[in-house]
Amino acid sequence: MSIEQLARKTVRELTPYQSARRLGGTGDIWLNANESPFANEYNIKCDRLNRYSTCQPSELIEAYADYAGVRPEQVLTSRGADEGIELLIRAFCEPNQDSILYCPPTYGMYAISAQTFDVNTKTVPLTSEWQLDLDGIRDNLDGTKLVFVCSPNNPTGNLINRGDIEALLDMTAGKALVVVDEAYIDFCPEATTANLLDSYPNLVVLRTLSKAFALAGLRCGFTLANQEVIELLLKVIAPYPVPVPVTDIAVQALSPAGRAKTKFQVLDISANRAYLQAGLGMLDGVTVYEGYGNYLLVKFPDADALFNALWDHGIILRRSPIENCIRISIGNRDECEKTLAFIREQLGQN
Ligand code: PMP
Repeated sequence: MSIEQLARKTVRELTPYQSARRLGGTGDIWLNANESPFANEYNIKCDRLNRYSTCQPSELIEAYADYAGVRPEQVLTSRGADEGIELLIRAFCEPNQDSILYCPPTYGMYAISAQTFDVNTKTVPLTSEWQLDLDGIRDNLDGTKLVFVCSPNNPTGNLINRGDIEALLDMTAGKALVVVDEAYIDFCPEATTANLLDSYPNLVVLRTLSKAFALAGLRCGFTLANQEVIELLLKVIAPYPVPVPVTDIAVQALSPAGRAKTKFQVLDISANRAYLQAGLGMLDGVTVYEGYGNYLLVKFPDADALFNALWDHGIILRRSPIENCIRISIGNRDECEKTLAFIREQLGQN
């Protein structure tokens, strides 16, 4: 038997997530992974590395609970929000029986994580306004254990109506969990649903330090949920999931000074987003969708040709599955200016 034949059928047949890093490219301007342009520096104290970390370091859990306005028993930390998605599927979905439901166009890892564990996937597309189709979801709740909602949604950038999320929580009460992926919420903190946790036992909120906190390379995320959910997730998480240096850095990032720096950087990124939105919005044939995260979805007359020209020029963006759309992460002002200037030139609108 070949090594490949030894693998599970599901894994042999799986098309893995096309992460920005996997897609390669060479260039000077990287605006394809919704990373922060700020390379903050941290001092790492590496004097405890002979010992395992605790499973859920209390200083980190307490710092994040305080930041998110929830109680420590409502927080679980993991290797990025991606691991949170995986833990939820492993803890709540029976393989080859239960389903997750998600609403495309949205983040690709909900489907891939489910497929990896032989969990079925159901899709109920977002409406033409990129909002939830609550009737469509209601019709598909049979056997559904987790409903994923992404707000701000990646890649469209819009917020999902809070009233619709509450209606969904009511509709799924006692049947399924609603997982609100708030990876980008620090760019619009007033839109969080974390303040609904005490009202809805079936609400789960995913968070990360990868975006506004400029720590994509740290791999540190959080799942906020009621204690019963957190305790179930703790049953399936690895014994020592959080490296000691990750805790050191994350606690610094969540300190008052770290939060202040993040707030300042969020303002800077928001100003650059407004600059790019205004600049692209003036071009004929271009539609810029309103975005609440650190990225914009933009529709061009011929997105493939433009994407390839940018790629060849060393400006690496993300092609979206939405027709003629490209997702542009918000970089520093220089990166935004160069990207806008090159797009103008390509479209013959200098
Ligand atoms: N959710 C969404 C919507 C994302 O865009 C991303 C990262 N691209 C993640 C979750 C994963 O974040 P993390 O880096 O914390 O694993």
